[in-house]
Amino acid sequence: MHIQLLMTGSELMRGTTVDTNAVRIADTLASIGLAIQRKVTVGDDLDLLVRELLAQSSEADVLIVNGGLGPTSDDLTAQAVAYAAEDTLLENAAALAHLEQWCRKLHIPLNAANRKQTVLPSSAFLLENPIGSAVGFGVHLHRCLVLCTPGVPRELEAMLTGSILPRLQHDYPDCEQQIILRLHLFGIGESQAQDMIDTAIPQWPDGVVLGFRAGLPTVEVKLLVRASVANIAHDYFARLKTLLADYIVAEGEQNMAAALLDTLAADGKTLACAESCTGGLVSAMLTEIPGSSRVFTAGFITYSNAMKSAMLGVSEQTLEKYGAVSEHTVREMVDGALKHSGADYALAVSGIAGPDGGSTDKPVGTVWIGWGNTQHITTRCFLISGPRKRFQQLAAAIALDQIRRMATGCSGIPPYFERWQKKT
Ligand code: ATP
Ligand code: MG
Repeated sequence: MHIQLLMTGSELMRGTTVDTNAVRIADTLASIGLAIQRKVTVGDDLDLLVRELLAQSSEADVLIVNGGLGPTSDDLTAQAVAYAAEDTLLENAAALAHLEQWCRKLHIPLNAANRKQTVLPSSAFLLENPIGSAVGFGVHLHRCLVLCTPGVPRELEAMLTGSILPRLQHDYPDCEQQIILRLHLFGIGESQAQDMIDTAIPQWPDGVVLGFRAGLPTVEVKLLVRASVANIAHDYFARLKTLLADYIVAEGEQNMAAALLDTLAADGKTLACAESCTGGLVSAMLTEIPGSSRVFTAGFITYSNAMKSAMLGVSEQTLEKYGAVSEHTVREMVDGALKHSGADYALAVSGIAGPDGGSTDKPVGTVWIGWGNTQHITTRCFLISGPRKRFQQLAAAIALDQIRRMATGCSGIPPYFERWQKKT
C-alpha cells in the first residue's frame, strides 16, 4: 500500500512549530506494519494545497492530510479538498451536530467562525473527533483515500487510534502488526553501540530490523519486529540485553528516571537530590514520573553558597577553601541531603555550566558529582563540553546513573567515565 502525508500550516514552514504530528502518524502506522512513502509540507496557501492534493492523490492509495480544519481564515483544508475533487462545499449535518454538542458541553455559544468547520465537501464522510470542535473527514480523490485530520496534536492522536487505524486495518487486512522492542542506553554513542551489536549479532532473522535513535541523554536501540516472528525476536532481544547490559538504563516506554524509580521502589528505598548547576533538573526528571513520591523525598536546589550552608549544612570553611565546585562541597551536599531528608540514597551536583564563570583550574564544563548512602559516599569530577543545556542534561543523567549502579550492585567503573572524567 502506498501512503503519503500532506502536512499543512505556515507555522511549519516558518519553523515556529516543530512537526511532531508527522512523527506521531508515522509511529502509529508503523505499529500495524505500514510505512509512509512520501511526506510533503506546505503553508496555508489554497493553490499550493490543491496542487499537492492532486499530485499526491494521483500517486498514493492513502493520503493523510494534517492541519487546517479549524475555524480561522487560514484553515483551508476543506475548501482545498473540495476544489481538488471538483466537489461542492455544504454544511454537513453530522458535523454541525458534533459542534453543537461540543459547545453545549463547554457552555459556549456556537459562533459563525466555529460553524465554518462544519462546511465540508458534499462527498465527505466523517472521522470522529472525541476531543475537539472540528471533525475529521475523508473523501475519495482519483483512486486515493484522502483522510483529513486536525493539527492539534491531542486531537490527531485520538483520531489516529479511534478511527484511522481501525479503518486502514479494515481496508487492508493483510498488513501485519508490528512490535517494537526498545532499550535505552546511557554512556555509549550510537556508532559504538552499532559496532558492538554488529560484532555479536552479524545477521538478523527475517522480519526483525535493528534501529537506533540518538537522543540526549540516552540512545535508543530498537527492534522492529513483524508479529509473526515475535518469539524469535524476543530471543534476539535477550541477547541484546546481555550484550549491552552495563549501558541499559531503561526498557520499553520507560525513560531512565522512571526505571530508576521502579528499581528503588522495588527495594523500598528513597532518594533525595542536592542540586546546584542543574537547578532542579534531576528532581524534575524524577517528579515528572507519576508515583515518584514512593521514592523521591526531597530536592534541595542550593544555587548560592549561602543556601548550600543553610539548607544542607555545607561548612563555610569548605566553601571558602575549596569552592562550591569541589569534591569536598559535593560530599557535604550528599551528606546534608541524607541527613535532612532521611532518604536512603542522595546525589549532589555542583559545576560550571557556562558560558561564563570558568577558570584555568575549573574550566566551563567542570562538574563534581557525588552520590551515596549513610555508609558510603563517592565523588567524581567530570568535564562535559558543549552548550549549557547539554551540560545539565548529561550531568543529571550521570548522577541518576550512579544511583542506579549503586542500587543494583553494578560493580566496576562505568565505561563512560574514561570519556567524561576530568583529567587532573
Ligand atoms: P484548530 O481547530 O485548532 O484550528 P487545525 O486542524 O486547524 O486545528 P492548525 O490550525 O493547523 O490545526 O493547528 C492547530 C494547533 O496544532 C497549533 O497550535 C499548531 O501549532 C499545532 N500543530 C499544527 N500542525 C502541527 C504539527 N504538524 N505538529 C505539531 N503541532 C502542530
Ligand atoms: Mg487552525
